[in-house]
Amino acid sequence: MSLELLTELNHWPAGRVREMAAKASPADIDRALKREERTPADLCALLSPAAVSRLEDMAREAQRLTRWHFGRTIGMYVPLYISNVCGADCTYCGYAVRSGNKEKRRTLTETEIRRECEALAAEGFQSVLLLTGEARRAVPPSTIADAASIAREYFPSVAVEIYSLDQPDYEELYRRGVDGVTIYMETYDRETYGRVHLIGEKMDYDYRLGASERAGKAGIRRLSVGALLGLFDWRVDGFWTALHARHLQRACWQSSVSISFPRLQHVPERFDIPALVTDKELVQLMLAMRLFLPEAGFNLSTRERPEFRDKLIPLGVTTMSAGSSTRPGGYTTYGEETLEQFEIEDTRPPKEVAKAIRAAGYEPVWKDYDYAFDQE
Ligand code: SF4
Repeated sequence: MSLELLTELNHWPAGRVREMAAKASPADIDRALKREERTPADLCALLSPAAVSRLEDMAREAQRLTRWHFGRTIGMYVPLYISNVCGADCTYCGYAVRSGNKEKRRTLTETEIRRECEALAAEGFQSVLLLTGEARRAVPPSTIADAASIAREYFPSVAVEIYSLDQPDYEELYRRGVDGVTIYMETYDRETYGRVHLIGEKMDYDYRLGASERAGKAGIRRLSVGALLGLFDWRVDGFWTALHARHLQRACWQSSVSISFPRLQHVPERFDIPALVTDKELVQLMLAMRLFLPEAGFNLSTRERPEFRDKLIPLGVTTMSAGSSTRPGGYTTYGEETLEQFEIEDTRPPKEVAKAIRAAGYEPVWKDYDYAFDQE
């Protein structure tokens, strides 16, 4: 676990972030808007209630920065769940071991993974995200590495969103062609983290917090972090996510860092969302993060409604998933027979999402050009 990151986070306890945001004045927001490089104090100002009246100015600057660093392109990717077996009990998740549904749990065989990959590649996708629950015995790192090798036969770009690993395991994934690791801290607030993670390795906050950095040190080229919005005060968790991303940009300078904004909307019956995040708050968070981290990619999943996703495109988004299923085998093998992790909101087929991206004045990119460049 990086002591440097822990020290940075501890330097900004929730109370301090909240207080600075509450006290931010119009002059603080003006200053934050004008600066070339923004400080954590500027980020507090941009996340503040007082900045709500400046969202249009923030949007203009966010758009300018995103176009400068990323052009007018949106990368397309698709998730592929290879297993929904999970031994952890994260109270907000449909895969949690205590949610039951034993008969709907599956780990895809190599033949099934191949079939799913074939179907997704035929749709035009060239970038895939492989996902599992936390089940080291049912789905060990070696099985994930084998799945990655299969996926690499179909996709130039393969990323994983799986349980936290040691650096040697990330090194093996890298050797098998994995170029991206997504791992959400869910919440950076230790107390809330302990309250929602009740069984499993994921209970170890520090081990999870250090996972992205271990992946970066292993050579993984794309690191993606995020907080599960709704678990804790979005301003504070957003602020801590930004500090984490900035730390990774420095500690793993050879990797690109991106941020996802998963927002809790559909949750299991036993769970009440403690800190619901509105559309407007999500917009403010994305804009503030863009101004603080102009070079970070922003990922937007199908958790959000189609019309809202379309509106977010010009505000800093750089990659979008489309046509997603959150069930193993959900594309061609098992349909709706297996347990889903969460309900998606944007059910449009990939081609329709691509059309919406074009309508917003951006080019959907199915191929990862960076990867092609790396191989030359
Ligand atoms: S969030 Fe991940 S580890 Fe937790 S229950 Fe869901 S699948 Fe398992």
